[in-house]
Amino acid sequence: MSDYQLFIDGQYCEAVSGETFATLDPSTGESLGTVAKARPEDAARAVDAARAAFDDGRWSFKRGSERAAILSAVAKGIKDRMPELADLESRDSGATLAKAKGADIGGAMFWFKTMGEFATRLDEPEPLPQTIAPGPSYNFLKRDPVGVCTAIIPWNFPLQMASWKISMALAAGNTIVLKPAPETPCTAARLGEILAEAGVPDGVVNIIQGPGPGTGEELISNPKVDKVSFTGSTEVGKQIMQMAAGTVKKTTLELGGKSAQIVLDDADMELAVDGALYAIFFHAGQVCTAGSRLLVSEARHDEFVERLVERAAAITVGPATADGVTMGPLVSQKQLDTVLGYIETGVKEGATVATGGERLTGDGLDRGFFVAPTIFTDVTPDMAIAQEEIFGPVLAVLPYTDPDDAVRIANGTRYGLAAGVWGSPAKAIKIADRLQAGTVWVNDWHLLNPKYPFGGYKQSGIGREHGMLGLLEYTEAKHVHVAIDANRRTHRWFDMTVPRA
Ligand code: NAD
Ligand code: MN
Repeated sequence: MSDYQLFIDGQYCEAVSGETFATLDPSTGESLGTVAKARPEDAARAVDAARAAFDDGRWSFKRGSERAAILSAVAKGIKDRMPELADLESRDSGATLAKAKGADIGGAMFWFKTMGEFATRLDEPEPLPQTIAPGPSYNFLKRDPVGVCTAIIPWNFPLQMASWKISMALAAGNTIVLKPAPETPCTAARLGEILAEAGVPDGVVNIIQGPGPGTGEELISNPKVDKVSFTGSTEVGKQIMQMAAGTVKKTTLELGGKSAQIVLDDADMELAVDGALYAIFFHAGQVCTAGSRLLVSEARHDEFVERLVERAAAITVGPATADGVTMGPLVSQKQLDTVLGYIETGVKEGATVATGGERLTGDGLDRGFFVAPTIFTDVTPDMAIAQEEIFGPVLAVLPYTDPDDAVRIANGTRYGLAAGVWGSPAKAIKIADRLQAGTVWVNDWHLLNPKYPFGGYKQSGIGREHGMLGLLEYTEAKHVHVAIDANRRTHRWFDMTVPRA
């Protein structure tokens, strides 16, 4: 029996093929356990369970307030297992314990609770303006669930992202099949029993671990699925859109980023320096909103870089669960190779390594996937390290001449997920107005909240998650028109086609 099984129709089970795969601890390179490996046939089974659960109304017919009570019980179930889940998340994904507790487990609780509260707002139809003519009528807007949703997520915030997708789908009355990333399947697998205990009916949530190709593709192309929600790379996102087109599925995409941090000359230095480091090095840069480009004025450039390098030395890299460690490993050998490849490219392109730039070994780090916090200077906007998402601890510093130049550089990539400005709020807000990004932080970074919408401009995605806007993406809007007079005489427009008797 595998250590982490599939969760289909309210039951833990093995894959039909009986196949399993191993998940690694990226701090040590050692196996954490075996995981049932879903194949397309298992994905189809999970979709069938979600379809049946949606169609008989066991979840969609509940009032928002009932769904809210159950979602709140899910949040409580997660809270009760906080230490155990945080430890598991840390080992499976390389998140430091502080990140696992605060962002992954804490975020999971926060989303279930808040989305439950939002669910109650969907109960009442929204009145629309009355119409006198043509067609005197009362009009209102109802929000129906879309139906069966499927969600595919990456490995950087495993339980939090699983909770984003599940809490939103459930708040709006849908059923769902979730596929976690194969690198980080453990905590999502534990969610099955927490959901069942909290009273989520069988089949409403199904969780299957397995590869993207084949298994993930079945979740996108299966005609019984109504909506697809994908978080991952822009490259795979493009394929998802094509696959979803076959049956015109509603699709939301949360893709990559190359977010720019703009430091204004009046920024508080202490805040901006530590903030810039946090923006890029949080979770070793494996964050879609990582502030991977830092734009500093020519006048302040040298002084700022000097302080950045000095403060970067305060970041302690090491095994994710170890005391005092503030930056863990990359998630896999593959990600390590990608990041080291980009560092090599940066050097070849003529950028200068101001600090870091290498894999860290020794002191028990040899078998893990550790890279030193890396800062590049002498970067120009056209370089690969200034255009492409690296998804690792690599910062590109670019000088700007004036704020117009900074805005031009900031907007000069195919991405538009997030951006930020360090400086006096009045000036920073004016800059924020001109940035093409779904989230702009002023004197802050990385804070997301279930109350506020999140998503990308340009090739960073389609649609929004979170907030009322995000929840509405999990609904169909239904306009209902009720004629004020239910008699033939007042329905003069019928005469166009059917002459009066
Ligand atoms: P990825 O796109 O390769 O994989 C993401 C998920 O998609 C995984 O679950 C994977 O199994 C699945 N997948 C892969 N190929 C598939 C296919 N053909 N059909 C269906 N599913 C498939 O990304 P990754 O390397 O795992 O994660 C890193 C990337 O994710 C980064 O590029 C980053 O930009 C992006 N990301 C974005 C956000 C966001 O919110 N915008 C958050 C985290 C990560
Ligand atoms: Mn793992």
